Order: sequence, then structure tokens, then C-alpha cells
Amino acid sequence: MVGKNSVFELRDDFPTLKRKVNGKDLVYFDNGATSQTPNLVIDRIARFYQNENSNIHRGVHTLSQDATSAYENSRRKIKEYINAKLEEEIIFTKGTTDGINLVANGFCRKFLKEGDEVLISEMEHHSNIVPWQMACEYSGANLKVCPIDDRGDLDIKLFKTLLSEKTKLVAITHVSNTLGTINPVREIVDYSHKFNIPVLLDGAQSVPHMKVDMQDLNCDFYAFGAHKMFGPTGIGILYGKKDWLEKLPPYQGGGDMIKSVTFEKTTYNELPHKFEAGTPNIAAGIGLGAAVDYLNRIDWALVHKHEKELLDYATNSIETIDGIRIIGTSLNKVGVLSFVHEKAHHYDIGTILDQLGVAIRTGHHCTEPLMNRFKVTGTARASFAFYNTKEEVDVFINALKRALTMIL
Ligand code: PMP
Repeated sequence: MVGKNSVFELRDDFPTLKRKVNGKDLVYFDNGATSQTPNLVIDRIARFYQNENSNIHRGVHTLSQDATSAYENSRRKIKEYINAKLEEEIIFTKGTTDGINLVANGFCRKFLKEGDEVLISEMEHHSNIVPWQMACEYSGANLKVCPIDDRGDLDIKLFKTLLSEKTKLVAITHVSNTLGTINPVREIVDYSHKFNIPVLLDGAQSVPHMKVDMQDLNCDFYAFGAHKMFGPTGIGILYGKKDWLEKLPPYQGGGDMIKSVTFEKTTYNELPHKFEAGTPNIAAGIGLGAAVDYLNRIDWALVHKHEKELLDYATNSIETIDGIRIIGTSLNKVGVLSFVHEKAHHYDIGTILDQLGVAIRTGHHCTEPLMNRFKVTGTARASFAFYNTKEEVDVFINALKRALTMIL
């Protein structure tokens, strides 16, 4: 890493990691829910409110022009970071959920009709299920679901048989938030494109762990949020290929998304503004640009090696504990460790771990159908980021053992 030789040096950039929880040094293993924010991002947001605070795109005055250029500069940084062809392919949204809803809403109104199909998978987050259910309900289309196997891998052979001339869109997660599985998204995109079927990828969980490249993935839509990639909450990106974004109708009506308005007829603005109605979360958009600056300094090869070591170490350690079952054992996964205990409830485990300073997530992780697939009501989930350490895994494992002795 540029100027930083180890994860320990990187940790210094994240103030929250220094705090104590219940008198203990915090071990933050809930990165799948939201990641921590580096000072670079926090300072940039503060600087916006201290120096540039004003509305964008509309003002002739200096503050507004400064804010506009910072916001649009952020769009440019994201375009470059994900290797999109054009800046207008980068739509600011509220987050992953918002981006998927934008596409689902447009598809429902323009492209879906009775008898059509939308194909998703069994491991989707509710954000990539419910918008499609709603789109199908309104249009009369049907939602098809591709199953996964016991390890938590997509059944790619079955996936291919589920595509037909009725399929109007494939919507699949790049990385599962509950299982950690990395899906073979290039294969999915290539195969779907053979039949001219567009593909939306849910990138919420991939962007914290890998650099994504839109030319390489060649997907039609890619939705992600800033808050899991070391940026602020309330802002995200929908990448869409220009052709598709041109064809989709606007999502919301209001200021900024129009070219001209009369009571008889409104004409819509050019991309990307056509999809950006109203005053956005300007500070967060600029903060996301700073998060990209931060990520640009990171050596991803080192991150992959480190996260793999952490996951292997945590997996081997947790497997020594009696009664533990790991949910999600794909050979191709990011640093997510979901588990259940045969006698202890995940909620009790999570609550006691918090008392011991360890933050993990418990519950269904917004993947209820996936919980049903594995016949569990929920799991305990430890999810890692590059700033986590093996020493923290040791603290977590010891705390887990202690929690189990208290519960059982
Ligand atoms: N998809 C996946 C795979 C996720 O993990 C999440 C967040 N848990 C979302 C979508 C939704 O993201 P957000 O709530 O930030 O819109």
C-alpha cells in the first residue's frame, strides 16, 4: 500500500477502530453491514460544510460553483475508478437499494409485460428480490429464481437452462452478503448476452473487497452504495450502459431532471441528470469521491492476500468449536463468515459478543429466502475488511467460546 506497509498502519486512518466498547477495545466485524470511514472522507465532508455548503447545478455564485465542481469531480473519479466509458453512465443514487429500484421501476413501466420473466438467484438480498416482485406484480411478469447448492454456490448449469426468450432481465448479486460467495458474473453476463438479455449486478458487497471494472464485467447495470466501501451513508451509484439508460424512463420527477416544464408537457434532462431529481446528498457525494481517492491508494493484491488469510484463519479457528456450522462454504468467497450453533441462538451470541467488545451481525441479513434454503432462522455473521487483523480474530474466537459457556 502506498506509504502504508501493513494493515496496522492503515488502521490509523479509521478513528472508530480506536474506540472502546463496553470497556474493551472494539473489534469491528460488521463490515458487511457498513464499513468504517477513514479520516480522509470525514475531513472532506466537514470541509464541504465549512467552506462550500450550497446547492449544486443551479447557482451562479462561487459557493454553488465550488460545490458543483466538487460533486461532478466525484462523478468523474467514480467513472474512472470503475472504468465506465462515460461520465453520464454514472448516476448518483441513495444507495444500492435505490439503484435497483430505479432499474426495476423503469423496466416495469417500459419493458415488462404479462408472461415475461425476470431471473434472480436464491442468495439475493431483499433489495434484489422485492423491487422485482413489485415490478412483476404490476406488469404481470414472473419472477424466476435460480437455486444454489449446499456450499452456497449458484447452480450455473441450471441458471443457463432457466434463460429463455421470455427472460427480459437477469438480476444477480456479485457477492453474497450472507454467504460471501463470489458469483461467476462474467460467465453469467456472457451467457445472458448471447440471448440479448441484459444483466444487472448487485455490487453492494463486491466493492469493499475488489476493484470492479465495467468494461471487463460488461454488465448492463451495476448498483452499489458508498457506505460499505469506506464512504458515507445515503449515497450510491447506479452504473448503466448509456444505451440502456437512454431507453429507461425517468424514475422520479422534480427539479434538475428536466429540460423544460410547461403544464402541458415536460421534456427531460440529458443523462445522468434525467435520473437525479431533487437536491441530492451533496456532501455524501463529495465524500464518496474522497473514499475513491482512499481506495485508489490501496494495493488490492495485498488486500486480497490479507483478507484471504483472515478468512482462512477465522474459518479454521471457528471449526475447532463444537456445535458450530458454517453457512456458506464456497471455495470462492470474500471475508464473510456466517455460522450457527446447534444449541445457542445467534441473537444471544451477538449480544454477549457485544458485551465483550466484538461487533458482529445476527439475524436473516435481509436474505430470508436464503435462510429458508439452509433451514435456519438466522445466522451470526462476522464480516471482515482490510483493516481487520488476526489478533482481532483471536479476540473474537475467545469471546465466542466465552459466550457459548455462558449460554449453554
Ligand atoms: N445488496 C446486498 C448484497 C447487500 O448486502 C445490501 C446491504 N446489506 C444491499 C443490497 C442494500 O444496500 P443498501 O441498504 O445500502 O441500499
